[in-house]
Amino acid sequence: MADDKRRPPTRQLWLVPTAGQAERSLIAEVAVKTPARRLYSYAVPDAWRAVVRAGTAVRVPYGRGQRLTDGVCLRVTTQAWDQTQRPLAAAQPGPAWLSESLVELGLWVSEYYVCAPWKTFAALLPSRLRTPRVKNVPYLRATGAPSADRLSTKQAALLAALGNAEMRRADALARAGVSAATLRTLCQRGLVECLSRAEPVPRRPWPTQPVEPCAADAFELTPGQHDACQQLLAALEPADAFRVLLLFGVPGSGKTEVYVRVMREVIRRGRQAIVLIPEIALATQVVDRLARRFERVAVLHSQLPARLRCETLAAVAAGEVDVVIGTRSAVFAPCPKLGLIVVDEEQETSFKNLAAPYYHARDVAIKRGQIEHVPVMLGSATPALETWYNVQHRPHFQLIRLPQRVPGAHLPEVQLVQRHGPHAGPGDDMLSPRLRAELADTLAAGQQAILLYNRRGYAAYLRCTKCGLTVRCERCGGHLVFHRAEQTLKCHRCSVRVSVPPRCLDSTCGGRLAQTGLAIQRLEEDLRASIPHARLLRLDSDTMRRREDYQQALRGFENGAADILLGTQMVAKGLDFPRVRLAGVIDPAAALSLPDFRAAERVFQLIVQVVGRAGRREGPSLAIVQTAERPPPVIAHALRMDYESFAAEELEQRRRLYYPPHVRMVRLILADPRPNRARAEVERLAVALRDRATRAHAGLRVDPPEPCPVKRRGELLRYQVVLRAPHGASIQGLFDEADRGKDLAPRVQRFTIDVDPVDWL
Ligand code: ADP
Ligand code: ZN
Repeated sequence: MADDKRRPPTRQLWLVPTAGQAERSLIAEVAVKTPARRLYSYAVPDAWRAVVRAGTAVRVPYGRGQRLTDGVCLRVTTQAWDQTQRPLAAAQPGPAWLSESLVELGLWVSEYYVCAPWKTFAALLPSRLRTPRVKNVPYLRATGAPSADRLSTKQAALLAALGNAEMRRADALARAGVSAATLRTLCQRGLVECLSRAEPVPRRPWPTQPVEPCAADAFELTPGQHDACQQLLAALEPADAFRVLLLFGVPGSGKTEVYVRVMREVIRRGRQAIVLIPEIALATQVVDRLARRFERVAVLHSQLPARLRCETLAAVAAGEVDVVIGTRSAVFAPCPKLGLIVVDEEQETSFKNLAAPYYHARDVAIKRGQIEHVPVMLGSATPALETWYNVQHRPHFQLIRLPQRVPGAHLPEVQLVQRHGPHAGPGDDMLSPRLRAELADTLAAGQQAILLYNRRGYAAYLRCTKCGLTVRCERCGGHLVFHRAEQTLKCHRCSVRVSVPPRCLDSTCGGRLAQTGLAIQRLEEDLRASIPHARLLRLDSDTMRRREDYQQALRGFENGAADILLGTQMVAKGLDFPRVRLAGVIDPAAALSLPDFRAAERVFQLIVQVVGRAGRREGPSLAIVQTAERPPPVIAHALRMDYESFAAEELEQRRRLYYPPHVRMVRLILADPRPNRARAEVERLAVALRDRATRAHAGLRVDPPEPCPVKRRGELLRYQVVLRAPHGASIQGLFDEADRGKDLAPRVQRFTIDVDPVDWL
């Protein structure tokens, strides 16, 4: 009753249908800026009929207080007239970039990744699109009032030009050939009214790309490439067949060239292609090589300034761009005539978004292909096990092998060198005599080497020589890493920096601290000491902070400005350097101790990638994997570059342990600054989840709740509970229930739902 009083019935009187409306009205389905996982319907007032469509930014009354709230219209439908339907309060005219299929895709992301539609579409549309740029343009209108005095010729001309319509001020003055003074008199006499109308800012046409002419096809395809192209072209054939094609080729087999040729054909048929690449900083070479092969190319990445990003997307939406190359969010590029999606290096973790919606761009690409009936091409030398599993179990996945390197290039011989005992401390050589000798030979022959050591910093950590206590991060408990250049200790998980303590942290001990374990800066020093004439280039996120640094360093190495490229995993990614004869990997198995069920997969990928950097042109080459202990099985597979055996073994193990890709996983993270709050809530949540699982969701497994590996981030204490289910549907069903029942909604400051998690810290 009280509710009725608060809402006066007269409020929507103006929505009473006219006879012509035949009792039907336009209804906008809106993603409103709230955490709710649903859409809301609003009536579209006549004034906004012409403006509102999918993608239009709107303001709507929302919630108890009917506060005006932002939203994005996702659909407009005609429905039976319903007087209880509240109307939109405002709509912003702008370009409509959201096609029906992008709306469908966004709603799927919202549902699958359990994320509010508003948040999802906010990630999908650039902010400038959500509030399109408009400028206020002065307009004129004749009021139609009778004039008391006689009109001058000029005044009459202006009134005649205006007629009964509204007209831009500038156009009207120009058409009548009169000055602003004439207008002023008419306004003063109340015959003309000045108005202001919002108009979208006109778009500059997209510049046709390269300044240099677009590079021609320089070489004959190898038989393998030719075959792959034929199979891919066949997939384009039935115009609306959805297919996922995995291009599985050893590093240097010329996958990029296959993408180029297939995309050419897509463009020839008047359609557009999207190429997704991992982290842009690591992909500059690929972008350059791809971009210069096409004429109408757009590159999209997160560092693009907002205005440029918006202009680029507008050009894509207008069909002025044939090829969109970009990082993960480019999967949502508003291509009206999409013909192909390529995901290069599809196994890369940077395709996973690390904020809500926690989408995986490769998986979204596949969904988009399905919705828009276009083939999706995944390329990798070491496919994600999820993809490999799908190739074996799903009919619409097809495997295309590219087993040989391009002519002249040969995979290097791979050798294992065992360095006895763990790395101790200063004075102990990091490099085995064998690796050192090969480095010297390589340099003597005027060739280059790449060394990978996946540990930033100088010494991995500091340890008390008396009691053995190591210096750890106060926040997360991980080892602090010593950075010699800055003389500080850093936590690589939570980015904390502290100064180096003079003595053991245990005040009763007070022993001397010494460096133990080794990191990349120590390796650099070792090398400088033992091969003094070598020109070294170190590449890690401490030396390469900006994208330009990275590009410059790589160009330098490509042009022979350094002999040895030394780095963390950054050096392994997709680089093509012709003169590299030797690739070395130091201690790759160390990563196996990370709290990530994909650790072995990552180690395998890393080794294959580094090894693949050598021998990309004529002549013999060598790869050396140096380990401290007896190598674990994953290393043995990697030495033989035998992906398929590794995958079979690893998949079997994951099956036994109930891990993806055999099951779906969801990681729930509860974070709160209050002591014990997150822990208490995670335990309560786990009980509630188990209760649902036994009642309604067969096969759903709730792991015991535990602190996250990074237990503290900023002020927040973090706990997690991991769910596993035989398929996604039962998980999404669970969260639908959570929306209705409050017992599944934890009372913590931050609650994160990560479906198909990749990050385990
Ligand atoms: P992948 O992506 O499989 O590692 P790339 O596409 O980077 O391989 O190709 C490796 C190198 O081989 C590139 O420099 C490329 O220009 C060259 N290349 C590709 N195809 C051919 C070919 N058919 N003949 C000669 N060289 C080729
Ligand atoms: Zn820390």
